Amino acid sequence: MTKSAVILETDASGVKEAVFAAITVAAASGDVIALTTASADSVQASCAEYGVTQLISINAGCDLDAHPDARATAFAECIKAHGITDVIAINSMEGKDLLARMAVILDAALTTDCLSIDVAERSVKKSYFAGKALATLTLPGDIALYGLRPNAVVAVAAPSTPASEDFTASVTAEGIVITDIQGGEGASTDLSEASVIVAGGRAVGDSSGFDILNELASTLEAGVGASRAAVDAGYAAHSMQVGQTGKTVSPNLYIACGISGAVQHYAGMKTSKVIVAINNDKDAPIFSKCDYGIVGDIFDVVPQLTNALK
Ligand SMILES: Cc1cc2nc3c(=O)[nH]c(=O)nc-3n(C[C@H](O)[C@H](O)[C@H](O)COP(=O)(O)OP(=O)(O)OC[C@H]3O[C@@H](n4cnc5c(N)ncnc54)[C@H](O)[C@@H]3O)c2cc1C
Repeated sequence: MTKSAVILETDASGVKEAVFAAITVAAASGDVIALTTASADSVQASCAEYGVTQLISINAGCDLDAHPDARATAFAECIKAHGITDVIAINSMEGKDLLARMAVILDAALTTDCLSIDVAERSVKKSYFAGKALATLTLPGDIALYGLRPNAVVAVAAPSTPASEDFTASVTAEGIVITDIQGGEGASTDLSEASVIVAGGRAVGDSSGFDILNELASTLEAGVGASRAAVDAGYAAHSMQVGQTGKTVSPNLYIACGISGAVQHYAGMKTSKVIVAINNDKDAPIFSKCDYGIVGDIFDVVPQLTNALK
């Protein structure tokens, strides 16, 4: 029988938005157990809003958030102890790290970057070849682990009253120790989790040209991305690159500023819900791929857009 769990990834403001979609996906096959290393009190309200039925707060004799190996062992212990068969995490760096370690410990099937997941059928949809092919995979074995691409599924609120319990794992400090976390260059928001992205291309001209995009992004609480041409020219950090050789993103809104719309860029953002393009060439390929297009100079249009939104 299916018994589904979701990993609650948190940041300074609580449970990450993208996790709620994972709860919605798990809830489609019945009850949802939420697994966390945070205190139950700090995540209870979010869990109750999206339909979690049981909240398990996992602890051990060491700081699990600073020991990724011990954390994976502790989660695996909890999963086995509760007879959990299917576990969904968001496809973030942290989620992928935890899932991969757990897959080894549990000898479980793992698939990441899923666009959709049917837990009851043990089936997922994933894109391949820069988005040209969509594959349906089924996962074998007693336990299946899934990474859900942020923003690929819409979260649906479903009020519940989760029962909470503590689980103390027997693991002690082992393996890697995280001693410090530093934000990367240009890493304001993790692009793969952002629900709005403002991206700049070669047309931005230099790194200070990104100032107008940063201002628009801060007005929209968006992440800032870049084309490879902008990255190769040194205007933006590689962590900001969107596309075939950069990040794959699925925001609700993607604003491409001075980006031509080459296939390699499009491959990384084609699953955006709404694409807006600003380009001074009315024949730029991006205009055949966007939902809304503005023909104009980014240095005129972007500040006007920011002012209008403010
Ligand atoms: C194997 C491979 C992998 C690749 N991977 C990636 C990838 O991951 N990501 C990626 O982005 N690219 C990738 N590329 C590169 C890709 O092919 C394009 O070269 C690149 O995306 C172009 O970036 P761009 O649109 O910023 O620049 P350009 O193609 O130079 O386009 C600039 C656009 O800005 C417009 N413009 C100019 N001035 C203004 C202005 N003032 N206001 C408004 N618009 C203006 C122009 O009309 C033009 O459309 C890859 C290529 C290869 C071969």
